[in-house]
Amino acid sequence: MNRYIIESAHPIEKCDQAINDLFAAGYLHHFEWGCKDNDHTGWAIVEAESLEEARQIVPWYLRDKARIVRLVKFDLATDEHNKQAGS
Ligand SMILES: [Zn+2]
Repeated sequence: MNRYIIESAHPIEKCDQAINDLFAAGYLHHFEWGCKDNDHTGWAIVEAESLEEARQIVPWYLRDKARIVRLVKFDLATDEHNKQAGS
């Protein structure tokens, strides 16, 4: 499993729909939202097999604009930060 951060913006009129759809999909508890600060974006860190699988979590009408990035942790003691991605 890889970990991905999802950054998914929505128009203000889609707040309720985005939240309801993520609830229905079982992912609402992963998300935190900027809506109350007038930034209509949700962020979540999820586990998925692939970037495409992570993208499927985003409601289809927001999927094109979602930004999804695979996350890794670095451990200085093992020099992992010097390795290329995917190696
Ligand atoms: Zn919102």
